[in-house]
Amino acid sequence: MTPMALSSVVMKFGGTSVQNSEMIREVVGIIKKYRAKQQTIVVVSAMSKVTDGLVNTAHDVVAGTAKEAEIRDFVNELKERHRITVEEVILKKYRAPVLIEIERLLGELEKVLTGISYVGELTPRSLDFVMSFGERLSAPIVSGAINSAGIKSRWFSGFEAGIVTDSNFGKAAPIPDLTEEKIKKVLGPARDMIPVVTGFVAGDMKGRITTLGRGGSDYSAAIIGSVLDVDEIWIWTDVDGILTTDPRIVKNASIIKVISYAEAMELAYFGAKVLHPKTIEPAMEKGIPVRVLNTFKPEKEGTMIVKKQNEISDVVKAISVTKNVVLLTISGAGMIGVPGVAARVFGALARKNVNILMISQGSSEVNISIVIEKGDLKKAVQTIKQEFEGMNIIKDVHYVKNIAVVAVIGAGMQGTKGVAARVFTSVAEAGVNVLMIAQGSSEVNISFIIHERDVKKAVNALHNEFVE
Ligand code: ADP
Ligand code: ASP
Ligand code: MG
Repeated sequence: MTPMALSSVVMKFGGTSVQNSEMIREVVGIIKKYRAKQQTIVVVSAMSKVTDGLVNTAHDVVAGTAKEAEIRDFVNELKERHRITVEEVILKKYRAPVLIEIERLLGELEKVLTGISYVGELTPRSLDFVMSFGERLSAPIVSGAINSAGIKSRWFSGFEAGIVTDSNFGKAAPIPDLTEEKIKKVLGPARDMIPVVTGFVAGDMKGRITTLGRGGSDYSAAIIGSVLDVDEIWIWTDVDGILTTDPRIVKNASIIKVISYAEAMELAYFGAKVLHPKTIEPAMEKGIPVRVLNTFKPEKEGTMIVKKQNEISDVVKAISVTKNVVLLTISGAGMIGVPGVAARVFGALARKNVNILMISQGSSEVNISIVIEKGDLKKAVQTIKQEFEGMNIIKDVHYVKNIAVVAVIGAGMQGTKGVAARVFTSVAEAGVNVLMIAQGSSEVNISFIIHERDVKKAVNALHNEFVE
């Protein structure tokens, strides 16, 4: 990217971007070269694989497969990795406070994991606490590295920076007014130094640690950028930008130079991991452009996400895939002619924080099908059964696992005839069976369900038809 004279910017660096000392040096170089005139705020993820390690260890501990010795090994490995990085990227005179913080955090982590093994229970709240260590370890290191480059910096947890959330552990949502007030107070006047804020991590009204959902550091950056009304929000990651589809599925996925908020939102919502699904909303509210850039190749232009694209030449811009979902079907002849059954289902699930990705109701009214995240399955089935208990409305709730949602996205589909026909013809010609088609919730996407085993075939066929 060419350096530009912005007055304020939020830069978020993902896990691979801070995975080792070499990459952290790259990050510092980027900050030095591209920082804004007035205010630059840095948001960081945990070093790559650390969050996964924390989650897996916590689960092993409750399962009893990781005991005291394994806990100690895990904590020591983390200590080694972070300590070595400190020595490689932070000048001696800035090291002490960072090393003390790492030591303190890892002591705490060992105690928490041991506590979990004694209790034999992992609540969403304790899992959030455990997951928070990744970012709390990486932020001090990046901040120390910035100091070492001669630019003043301080680290903050997301909560200290002002992100106050509800207590929906694992997928917490910021409380707008409180968050706005606090971020402005803490980060607003911080012009003479670069704050490094832990992504993903926040805190509830009682000051208990919460997280914003896996991959949530992007969202943290957007929340902060939106409150401070910065000029741009930059998401630095390990690919050249937003690609036409997941590069792990289609080898020649290509870069999308400009994309609208609406399209990017759909893409992220339907599984493009490059952006956390909630990232766009805060940016969109203030009309702040979001760029997705490659830390490994900072000279590339990346993807620019903006309100509206001037000329739209392509009908379909991208294809995304959501895995780890289940198709839940609620059926019963008792539903016929009873008004509000669907509304009750959705209401009950919403109150339990079950996210519904897709909805379809047959015209016969004997069933409603919804797509939800796999992790919510048990809760969803229970909730629906409870909601209609003792009533002769619902007969059966059944589900299909190992499915995937494919979404074909592009603002150019609006008003273009025959797109759906082309989508389903190419999928059919690839020999893929479609299980369900969504009711068009948005005019910029067509989404449908297939078996997970057919993903590669279907996406490659669509990419071939529309993009290549
Ligand atoms: P970070 O740690 O920087 O947040 P993520 O792993 O969360 O990075 O997101 C980047 C990854 O998202 C890429 O490496 C790529 O494999 C994956 N990905 C999936 N779909 C897309 C897409 N449409 N465009 C770009 N990357 C995608
Ligand atoms: N470290 C967190 C995760 O792996 C958040 C993030 O990277 O955005 O989910
Ligand atoms: Mg990510």
